[in-house]
Amino acid sequence: MDNEFLACLQRSNGCLRMEALDLETLADRYGTPLYLYSRAEMERAFHALTAAIASREHLVCYAVKANSNIAILSLFAGLGAGFDIVSGGELARVLRAGGNPKKVVFSGVGKTRAEMRQALQAGILCFNVESANELVRLQAVAAEMGLRAPVSVRVNPDVDPKTHPYIATGLTRNKFGIAFPQALEVYRQAKGMQNIQLVGIDFHIGSQITETQPYADAVERLAAMVEALRHERIELSHLDLGGGLGIRYRDEQPITPQQYAAAVLPRLAKLPHKIILEPGRYLVGNAGVLLTRVEHLKRGAQKRFAVVDAAMNDLIRPALYDAYQHVVPVRSRPMPSQNYDIVGPVCESGDFLGLERPLAIEEGDLLAVLGAGAYGFSMSSNYNSRPRAAEVLIDGSEAHIIRQRESVESLFELESIAPLAAK
Ligand SMILES: *Cc1c(COP(=O)(O)O)cnc(C)c1O
Repeated sequence: MDNEFLACLQRSNGCLRMEALDLETLADRYGTPLYLYSRAEMERAFHALTAAIASREHLVCYAVKANSNIAILSLFAGLGAGFDIVSGGELARVLRAGGNPKKVVFSGVGKTRAEMRQALQAGILCFNVESANELVRLQAVAAEMGLRAPVSVRVNPDVDPKTHPYIATGLTRNKFGIAFPQALEVYRQAKGMQNIQLVGIDFHIGSQITETQPYADAVERLAAMVEALRHERIELSHLDLGGGLGIRYRDEQPITPQQYAAAVLPRLAKLPHKIILEPGRYLVGNAGVLLTRVEHLKRGAQKRFAVVDAAMNDLIRPALYDAYQHVVPVRSRPMPSQNYDIVGPVCESGDFLGLERPLAIEEGDLLAVLGAGAYGFSMSSNYNSRPRAAEVLIDGSEAHIIRQRESVESLFELESIAPLAAK
């Protein structure tokens, strides 16, 4: 498995390292469970993607929900990225991190009036509108503020992204976007609204997509729609192709940025528009690991369990999506391996990080869960009153703590005991 490691992980003197730092030292310094992110790997992914689409005017809007730590947002802002947000909270993070609001696109089916006001105030690049009613609401909010809201209509191209059903978003049975027949009508309505300015069209068909065909199909439909809009004298300035580029967790053969560009760009050759992408997982997924320590080795009646100090509250992908992520010992041991279910201490049978994994380990050993940079910490919770893990950004031989480990006290800081009347 060692030769499958990503560029940011190597083994030296038997110990796993991220960039120039060994994971044992980092565990001693910061404790476990611990999220580690490689700056080099995030930058490599960003440059690989932008290079593939360099022939077109473009803007890469990092999807904040994949990993929303302000240090990560600041890193991408520094590379010139924009941001794809899905809440007012994410907008506040982007601004706090020094992101440029003029490079922010706002997606999501449930934008509140308050979020619309916040985004109009900040002067974002555009609202990706997901329904006719949202458009009406946005017009009203913008009118109250005496502003014009820049709008892209999120269309639902009805293509199957061939991914886990929970992360497929571009089928008409999904809640996202507007089906093509209605989308044209929504554009006509928007054109007649005083406080709406039509600037784009977008789709996002799903996540962890590993084939080019769904993108090619979606882009073809998008291009036809843009032509139809031109016939009605509706001119746009950008085409937003969403995110969803998959990464390798196990043995997937994800599409490369070059293959992606070769599948989509020729289909847009006749259109002069700026291209926007909204990648999340692709930019951060394989830049992160979750470091955890083996607390107990338990031999059950049928199985062996490695009970570790990270759990589903720290990393929910295995429990939620049945997702596979490699789990590798930080130090290799010269002994035969056994098959273990790697489980956390949370009181749920779904609390596992990996099942039936051959490992040569002893109690106290460190394990690294790979591919944990995306939808790891950002989906974590305090279930079972577990303080959330610390996060560290690795930059060569430097480690920067970018989020302190939570304290137990902070977990009930906002709670109070009700002064119930005596009975
Ligand atoms: C989640 C999301 C993305 C990012 O998806 P990835 O699979 O992480 O690339 C992009 N756009 C929208 C609208 C999203 O909801």
